[in-house]
Amino acid sequence: MSYIPVIGLEIHAELLTNSKIFCSCSAEFGGEQNTRCCPGCSSMPGTLPVLNQTAVKYAIKAGLAMNCDINKFSVFDRKNYFYPDLPKAYQISQLYFPICVNGNIPINIDGKEKNIRLNRIHIEEDAGKLMHDDFNGVSLIDFNRGGIPLIEIVTEPDINSSEEAKAFVEQVSLLLQYTGVCSCKMEQGALRCDVNISLMKSTDTEFGTRVEIKNLNSLKSIVRAIEYEIKRQARLLDNGDRVVQETRRFNDNHGDTKSMRSKEDAHDYRYFPDPDIPQVNLSDEDLEAIRAELPELPNKRLERYINEYDLSKTDAQIIVNQKTVSDFYDETLKEYNNPKSVSNFVIVELLRRVNLGEISMDNLPFSAKDFATLIEMADTDKVSKNDAKKILRLMIETGKSSLDIAKENGFLIVSDMSKVDEIITMVLSENAEAVEQYKNGETKVFGFLMGQCTKKLKGVCTPKVIKETLEAKLK
Ligand code: ADP
Ligand code: ZN
Ligand code: MG
Repeated sequence: MSYIPVIGLEIHAELLTNSKIFCSCSAEFGGEQNTRCCPGCSSMPGTLPVLNQTAVKYAIKAGLAMNCDINKFSVFDRKNYFYPDLPKAYQISQLYFPICVNGNIPINIDGKEKNIRLNRIHIEEDAGKLMHDDFNGVSLIDFNRGGIPLIEIVTEPDINSSEEAKAFVEQVSLLLQYTGVCSCKMEQGALRCDVNISLMKSTDTEFGTRVEIKNLNSLKSIVRAIEYEIKRQARLLDNGDRVVQETRRFNDNHGDTKSMRSKEDAHDYRYFPDPDIPQVNLSDEDLEAIRAELPELPNKRLERYINEYDLSKTDAQIIVNQKTVSDFYDETLKEYNNPKSVSNFVIVELLRRVNLGEISMDNLPFSAKDFATLIEMADTDKVSKNDAKKILRLMIETGKSSLDIAKENGFLIVSDMSKVDEIITMVLSENAEAVEQYKNGETKVFGFLMGQCTKKLKGVCTPKVIKETLEAKLK
């Protein structure tokens, strides 16, 4: 039987605030275990939360970038559950009045656009991080992560394949990076995804029973978990069995999912408004001020690149798809305003070095200004195109400036025309016989003369200049 996969995602994103959501501890990633926490964020009973306003602002920015309606009135609730990563036995979250509702994010698959609707975005606190030590049979906990502000982005079940899920998460990640509210480093757990998935037949009028796969922290595992689950559920349905509504865990090593527990419903959490936290009330002016802070978003940048810079859609997309690349491209243009040439050099040469793992966009060993100088030298024939590539490699290896490298290695073409003239005249007088042959119509000796001149004029001018001067002299 063939089935249509129905998928909804819940994406947790850690917000890049300086301090945590309800206390003043640092929210920075990492640190020695339990050095960035206080009784509040290590979840001791009896502590009082104070809401970090920047976290609210960041959640709103994310919501605006994802076309959500922002609720001017929102409330924090207690989600009660007992688990050692949260000793106070409830997580502060939002259920009834979340900060953002509705919204949508367009994704693009093979040139086909599809809109994925969002149900909501709410704010909550992260829990501590448990580490299970199987050898000693103990579990350890690090509260540095406890109390880091999170947003949870919940989609409608509009996704129908692992490919769409991947494109969607990539798009979310891009929007969060452009708005500057999340690092989106999945390897650091800054972006984590729960997948809800069920199957239906094309003739069905209702969705099937869904399974939730918790805490996927790479694009690859999202795709693999979905693929596995589609097969598993299809096999059950083909055999006339039922899919059980439950929470499953994906095992990266085995590439399969295993049941964790039966799925809780909202009422299992006994949600109620947190009496310690004042309700959030926002004015139109507050929202306008936040909207005004939003930077240029990826779709606007894409338009600018295509319409103003005349880049092809493919090239523009490649640059926009990584915020660091796009920022660097824009910075380079400020120094050398040649959008097409810079885009070529970025896509072909710079990204090649990045993809080879020689450099990282987060930490380039040269400035946009120096990079601009390099491209300009190549465009104006101060260095050959081929030497420009070598210079880039040397910039990475030595950390020296492009101009210094060009000078030190004799890549710089000085275009000293009096010298060009002098040397070509000399070559011609030394090869009088060849010149004679040329004048008698044996034009193929031109190549020989050109070769002689090029040998002597290395670094003085470009082959183009040699050719033109030589032709003029032979006339
Ligand atoms: P809960 O309150 O149990 O978490 P929600 O209604 O909030 O359930 O939905 C959680 C996620 O599951 C959402 O992303 C939603 O789109 C998705 N979802 C809901 N029903 C289905 C279904 N039948 N198949 C797949 N995904 C679903
Ligand atoms: Zn704290
Ligand atoms: Mg839910």
